[in-house]
Amino acid sequence: MSYLVFCEKKSYNIFMESILTLYKIGTGPSSSHTMGPRNAAKWMRKHYPDAKKFHVILYGSLALTGKGHLTDVVLRKILGKNTTFEWDIHSKIAHPNTLQIEAKCTDGNHIQRFISIGGGEILLEGEKKEKKDIYPFSNFQQIKDYCSAKSLDLSDFALFFEPNLLQKLEKVFKTMKKSIQNGLQKEGYLPGSIHAKRKAKLLYNVAIENEDSSLLRTRLVSSYAYAVSEENASGGIIVTAPTCGSSGVLPACLYYLERKYSLEEEKILRALIVAGIFGNIIRTNASISGAFAGCQAEIGTACSMASAAVTYLMGGTIEDMETAAEIAMEHHLGLTCDPIDGLVQIPCIERNATAALRALDAASLAPYLSSSRKISFDTIVKTMLDTGKDMKKEYKETASGGLAKHYSEDKEVL
Ligand code: SF4
Repeated sequence: MSYLVFCEKKSYNIFMESILTLYKIGTGPSSSHTMGPRNAAKWMRKHYPDAKKFHVILYGSLALTGKGHLTDVVLRKILGKNTTFEWDIHSKIAHPNTLQIEAKCTDGNHIQRFISIGGGEILLEGEKKEKKDIYPFSNFQQIKDYCSAKSLDLSDFALFFEPNLLQKLEKVFKTMKKSIQNGLQKEGYLPGSIHAKRKAKLLYNVAIENEDSSLLRTRLVSSYAYAVSEENASGGIIVTAPTCGSSGVLPACLYYLERKYSLEEEKILRALIVAGIFGNIIRTNASISGAFAGCQAEIGTACSMASAAVTYLMGGTIEDMETAAEIAMEHHLGLTCDPIDGLVQIPCIERNATAALRALDAASLAPYLSSSRKISFDTIVKTMLDTGKDMKKEYKETASGGLAKHYSEDKEVL
């Protein structure tokens, strides 16, 4: 095929997976701490169906924030009531999200360690990620060169390699919208120790009661991001985009634009593809895991994805989409992950709203900045990875630094 000739000429590595793997439908509150461990438990149940008891050891970030992320609750749901837990925060481990499950069976005990690598995916310890490479590219420059040589837009580029994407993304967008609609209906408090109040409905009502306000966009978009994030925090069904903790950013932007401009569904689905291309590049070259690289890897990635999607919907060029995605990540660099009590609530929920607004702003700036920019998307992704590696572990989903550490001081005054 012609694309292979093109790739051979450039000696590309074959390297990127399906875009669909970024958009997983499931229950929150965390892709690495809830969805991943749930998959590990299912693996144990499948391989040891006669097990009468299980013993789980959670290490690293899973031990430090697993209670707030409901890791034990989801594991018990799959493994059963006869499950005991150990929270080991001291052992040295190669990956911050490691768990061990021991199945006690009639023929003896069977131990398996798992690594939750982010986005709900798990690996057996020692297992290499089996990549189902679909895209013969590994960075944005390569993709841009290819699109330019073939006169393709970004969504058509992805459809060439994944022809069924549009049909498969229909359910993804439907679920995103449903999570917004569900979240907007609910009031009261979120589960967990900090008694955080749900705010999506309040923000939405304020928005529609003051439709002439210059703050209408801010309030509406925020209400949508809050709605998804509150659904996530309370164990509702959401779509990772690219993770549970950052699941409100992209749907908030897409839903807002769909309603404001009465956009056709296919256009929105193509925007999801564009967002997925940028998320895929970040996952391939850096990380989308807060435990590995801080919140810049989750919310920063979600913001990049959303800003590229918005730029696409507004008719921007590939250069504009790259610029928007770059701006969105650049101004999240260094963002720490410090969830209070390990709950995906503070700072996570508000952060989804502010990132959605930043994505819209980045998209509106991009067309005027793209011809004179100095930083490429690939460079900002490398920078994010380096920044994540340099971050202290207290700021990488351990609930032991930042807001998680100082939160209690405000209990006296607020
Ligand atoms: S602070 Fe960011 S990375 Fe950490 S749990 Fe919250 S959303 Fe996820």
